[in-house]
Amino acid sequence: MIQEKMFDELREKTIFDQVQQYAYDYLDTVQGRNVFPTADALNGLTHFEGPLPLETTSPKDVLTQLNTYGAPATMAQLGGRYYGFVNGSSVPVGLAAKTLATYWDQNTALQIISPLVSKLELVVEGWLKSLFHFPESTVAGFVSGTSAANLCGLAAARYRILKNLDWDINEKGLMGSPQIRIVAGNQIHSSVMKALNLLGIGRQSVEYVETDEQGRLLADKMPILDSTTIVILQAGNVNSGSFDPFEVVCKKANDVGAWVHVDGAFGLWAGAISHFDHLTDGLNKAQSWAVDGHKTLNTPYDSGIILCADEESLVSALHSAGSYIIRGDGRDGMFYTSAMSRRSRIIELWAILKYLGKSGIDEMIIGLHERALQFASLFEKVEGFEVLNDVVFNQVMIQCASDELTLNVMENVQEQRICWAGSSMWKDRKVIRISVCSWATTKEDVRRSVESFRRALVALS
Ligand SMILES: *Cc1c(COP(=O)(O)O)cnc(C)c1O
Repeated sequence: MIQEKMFDELREKTIFDQVQQYAYDYLDTVQGRNVFPTADALNGLTHFEGPLPLETTSPKDVLTQLNTYGAPATMAQLGGRYYGFVNGSSVPVGLAAKTLATYWDQNTALQIISPLVSKLELVVEGWLKSLFHFPESTVAGFVSGTSAANLCGLAAARYRILKNLDWDINEKGLMGSPQIRIVAGNQIHSSVMKALNLLGIGRQSVEYVETDEQGRLLADKMPILDSTTIVILQAGNVNSGSFDPFEVVCKKANDVGAWVHVDGAFGLWAGAISHFDHLTDGLNKAQSWAVDGHKTLNTPYDSGIILCADEESLVSALHSAGSYIIRGDGRDGMFYTSAMSRRSRIIELWAILKYLGKSGIDEMIIGLHERALQFASLFEKVEGFEVLNDVVFNQVMIQCASDELTLNVMENVQEQRICWAGSSMWKDRKVIRISVCSWATTKEDVRRSVESFRRALVALS
């Protein structure tokens, strides 16, 4: 019965037309809409409560409910005035390609499961290697985000460090193994800490290095490195957007056989653009790099990449074997990630890179930087706001006279729903953090957003 119904649904396409219409309506309104859902929209979410139905529901009703109460309760992330956390929008051709890929529903584990995906992963790996000027030996794994990419990169590092000490982690495990040292700036991202915990390398193994007023690791405050050390650097501090000094640190590390892993969730893309060379000098001398598609590059969620110059370490660390696993003569994606089955996120990543080309990537990302600079210069003209960081990339941190006022202004701005930005801590003070991460942010969006901040401050003074 249900099988016949599903065949009918496929044949008739009514539900697909229904969704297509909803999608177009959404695209038409999302740019101008309130950024955070209205109170009514949030109340509407109660319509999803209730037990699992005993009988089937008509697919039309399923989709109607989803659209009626779901769409208004979304964050207008696709638009140009969402500056929360570090989240990107979506390049239209990527959304379209992801939609097509949805219908294909490919699993990316092995070449034999999806030759198409295997080919695209190989092609994009080559593009990324050349975009970032990474060593010829670099391989890429396509994962869910930078959290996963950090885990994969640090697993590769752990494998290599111990292997060099004649300790095969896959055989012997961590118990009784030689000690691994971690050297990282004291502004290390929480996802890196999580990865270290998952890998059995606890907090006590981390030797924190002092950072400067922009959050950059101070190379001359580093302890002496050795071949048991994994150094973790940042391309893009999550608050200030600053970049660690790759050239000096990589030289010190490479001289003694330490491993350098770079958390470049949003900032690694600066390494693809000569405009930002002064920030990324020496970046390509690390051993592994984690980066997101879904932030700066504006791919749809979710999309992250682990790049690693030491293929043997990455593949060994993420190794899985089974009598039924059939190696292809091309690329088998699962050997480069911690997962086996994955969705084909490579399809929209390929589409966006193909669409933008080198010049489009440059223009889009330099555009984010320019909008961030515009934010800073407009804030400097409004009395009561202070810009705290050098705006070297896409992050802007601002502050009011007191922590209380800063938070009240932020809440007032969030309630106006013209734009959305969140808070963070910087030097033991509350700050509002604006991350310009959407291709869709225009000069007018920035002007309107700063105006909403000004209104908030006036209302509270
Ligand atoms: C966002 C971010 C992460 C985590 O990335 P996800 O894609 O959310 O898993 C790690 N490091 C930095 C610096 C980030 O900005």
